[in-house]
Amino acid sequence: MRQTTFAIGLVSLAFAVSASALAQTSADTEGKKAPRVQTSESQAALTPASALEKLKKGNARFVEKNMRSRDWLAKVSATAGGQYPFAVILACMDSRAPIEIIFDQGIGDVFGIRIAGNIVNDDVLGSMEYATKVVGSKLVVVLGHTSCGAVKGAIDDAKLGNLTALLAKIQPAVSASGPGNAKDDAYVNKVAQANVSQAMKEVREKSPTIKAQLDAGTVGLVGAIYDVSTGKVTFLPD
Ligand SMILES: [Zn+2]
Repeated sequence: MRQTTFAIGLVSLAFAVSASALAQTSADTEGKKAPRVQTSESQAALTPASALEKLKKGNARFVEKNMRSRDWLAKVSATAGGQYPFAVILACMDSRAPIEIIFDQGIGDVFGIRIAGNIVNDDVLGSMEYATKVVGSKLVVVLGHTSCGAVKGAIDDAKLGNLTALLAKIQPAVSASGPGNAKDDAYVNKVAQANVSQAMKEVREKSPTIKAQLDAGTVGLVGAIYDVSTGKVTFLPD
């Protein structure tokens, strides 16, 4: 019974997406100066590799002070009927790592899941499953960053209310990185990278929905580190 209800829910979600796809297409063809936003067609034309390339080029524009100028409100209007983001990015909540800015993306381009320490939990996985399986995003990115306060807190084994349980999710990365302390920047960054790898492993192991799409090659999964001192995103090797 619960299974049936869930299936019906998914069908209505899919219907909502395809209905708005039609609305989006007609808005694009009618408006002569319609701004470039992701549509169902542009999203469908992308592969995991080309989606990754878009993010790499966007960060290069950011670092080179060559960001695109955008009519933001026109993009608001153009995306009101639906969204077709090409990637879903799990990033830390850190105020120095705003994902749309550092990847030079506009409205409707990427899904952002932001939580301290870019940790994975069931709700994060559910959000990624929605982004890929229901909305059609081609790439899942786990983005850590240098000088991460959550990583430092995990290294120090800090305890504070609900934060204690969150930091515990980073502990496997601390253990995997050997001894060190939170005052050592290189060590903190080493743990941040291990934490990204840990999150990617959890995505593969705890989401059969995403695993199936990865195996089929319809979705990609990459890890990256954002340097808060240079603005550069470095993608990690597979
Ligand atoms: Zn952080």
